[in-house]
Amino acid sequence: MEIDRTIAREVPISDQVIVGADQIVMMAGPCAVETHDQMYRIAEAVHAAGGRVLRGGAYKPRSSPHTFQGLGLDGLKIMREVADEFGLLVVTEALGIEHIDSVIQHADIIQIGSRNMQHFPLLWAVGETNTPILLKRGFMATIEEWVLAAEHIRQRGNDQIILCERGIRGFDPLTRNVLDVNAIPLARKLSGLPVIADPSHATGRTDLIIPASMAAVAAGADGLLVEVHPDPANALSDKDQALPLEQLPELFDSVAGIAEAVGRKI
Ligand code: PEP
Ligand code: MN
Repeated sequence: MEIDRTIAREVPISDQVIVGADQIVMMAGPCAVETHDQMYRIAEAVHAAGGRVLRGGAYKPRSSPHTFQGLGLDGLKIMREVADEFGLLVVTEALGIEHIDSVIQHADIIQIGSRNMQHFPLLWAVGETNTPILLKRGFMATIEEWVLAAEHIRQRGNDQIILCERGIRGFDPLTRNVLDVNAIPLARKLSGLPVIADPSHATGRTDLIIPASMAAVAAGADGLLVEVHPDPANALSDKDQALPLEQLPELFDSVAGIAEAVGRKI
């Protein structure tokens, strides 16, 4: 693997939010944008806890076509509006090449989902943009394949890439995936890029989000992407892994303690 690791490891999203610098960048929001009220309550809580980036899917890659598929453009508009009210940045997935323009218009970071990690034409297309990219690891991808997927983006000119470890498929049905803690420092070493972790998809369980977040930050993660919901039991997607808003302060406090221990801050 021939990779130029001398590239800047920091990805600035705004003047104040730089992924890969001292600060652990906290990104949180629902799995899917559902309503304005839901997003308003979440943005308010994320901002109050100290989060910097609001997440939320508008184009959802659902395993079943019979479930909620996302609000599409209306979802992007809602998310941008509430994020601006609270001074938050926005990350959301472009599920296909046809979504890139609308995502760029409404978001600050384009997310490439796990299932699309090797959708090469999509990687080439986002590589032609100037918007930061969050590249999730394929749930069956090796670390090398993931780092090479980032190279596909970089080769087209966009080197503003954040890698996201979101768990790989294991054999134990008690958890949805396995958080690959090894991958966090190793992907960073191999690619030179910042690496964040998604403890929600990695575990699939609300009760594991805080410990998995702490482990990821201890291993050197530059940020976290966490699913939260005001009413997890009634979330339209991924309800078993949605952290209730009331637990956001506990998450942030726990992560802040680890961040301090490894010489960083949130
Ligand atoms: C998501 O973060 O919204 C998502 C669908 O995650 P993944 O692509 O990691 O499954
Ligand atoms: Mn989800």
